[in-house]
Amino acid sequence: MITPRDIAPEHEQRLIAHLENREQAYIEKLRKLVDHNSGIDNPEGRLACLTILEQGYKLLGFACERVEKPGGMVHLVARRPALGKNAANAPKVLILGHFDTVYDANTSFLSFTREGPYLRGPGVGDMKGGLVVAQAALEAINSVGQLGEFDWLCVHNADEEVQSPTSRALIEELAVGRDFCLDFEIGRKTGAVVRSRAGVGRYFVTVHGKAAHAGMDHADGINAIVGMARIVEQLAVLGDAKRGTTLNVGTIHGGQKRNIVPDLCKIEVDVRVLTTAEGTRIDSEVRRICGDAPVKGARVDVMGGIGRPPWQRNAASEALIFHFQHIARAFGVILGAEDTGGGSDANFTAAMGIATIDGLGPIGEGPHTFEERIEAHTIIERAKLVALAVLTWTRPDSVEWN
Ligand SMILES: [Zn+2]
Repeated sequence: MITPRDIAPEHEQRLIAHLENREQAYIEKLRKLVDHNSGIDNPEGRLACLTILEQGYKLLGFACERVEKPGGMVHLVARRPALGKNAANAPKVLILGHFDTVYDANTSFLSFTREGPYLRGPGVGDMKGGLVVAQAALEAINSVGQLGEFDWLCVHNADEEVQSPTSRALIEELAVGRDFCLDFEIGRKTGAVVRSRAGVGRYFVTVHGKAAHAGMDHADGINAIVGMARIVEQLAVLGDAKRGTTLNVGTIHGGQKRNIVPDLCKIEVDVRVLTTAEGTRIDSEVRRICGDAPVKGARVDVMGGIGRPPWQRNAASEALIFHFQHIARAFGVILGAEDTGGGSDANFTAAMGIATIDGLGPIGEGPHTFEERIEAHTIIERAKLVALAVLTWTRPDSVEWN
């Protein structure tokens, strides 16, 4: 049994009361975040969300930095070093959360609504609700005067939903030396947190052929669709259900007219792997298959790769998750832990060997669909869990076993 760092009962009561009194304010903050669309094509909306988060951090005494990257991507890094005589030994916490969503600026799914016990809206679970939980937990820790006992580093990125191309290096650089990482993606429908995630890859394959009249000059043409069909057939069998590897050819586009030999055909491929070895195998097979001209004279381009390494279950993360489960039990919640096929930025920190827990956002369902919703009361429930678990966390090497 882990002997956690003590928390005074009056601190615990004050912290819980603080959260409960502020529930409506958290819902209002979430409404504001959701009402700003922050899709890939909406830099102004993303900046508006960043600004709301930044205000929250500034109120808590964090130093905020806007990190600008190509393509109009601006990420937020908020820091608050530990204070006092124990500062050098203070736990170093990394908080992750993205403020972009999958919904483009012209989506018809725009509004935040309350429906009975649920809050609905684009990004309400993935993951603006989680961002609110993270800041609520920090406020709660502050309410009992303990914020200065930790070294905080919060990274909020603007491009997670497109695989974090401009924030991955930033996250990996800042994660070095952190004691643990908390990621606030939507909690599982069962209430569980996430203990492992598949690695995710994406490939964009293009076959370039040569256009020609379908009748008169057919022999002069190079048919890109026929070439792609041969590639697709080979790619489609690369999955391996026993190893948990899936490969999905998700889209295909090619040709212009029935009577023209098509000069172009494109596909998009999604890959999920549970181990690094499978990621390497798939990547080299995709490149081998696409390396040969599928029809004489055709050229093949491949873009993409395994963007997120798999987060395999590991002892450091399991110990952190066990601690959260222990704390949840103390207030009567059985906290499950699940494996999932969806990737997140937690894959990066977990693959670096940093103790990582994900799915700390509100409990919900339907992310990436128009049915996205969360259970309103779990904003407070998760914030309470996170605040108490962080306050009682001790370094694994100083844990006493009995
Ligand atoms: Zn997400």
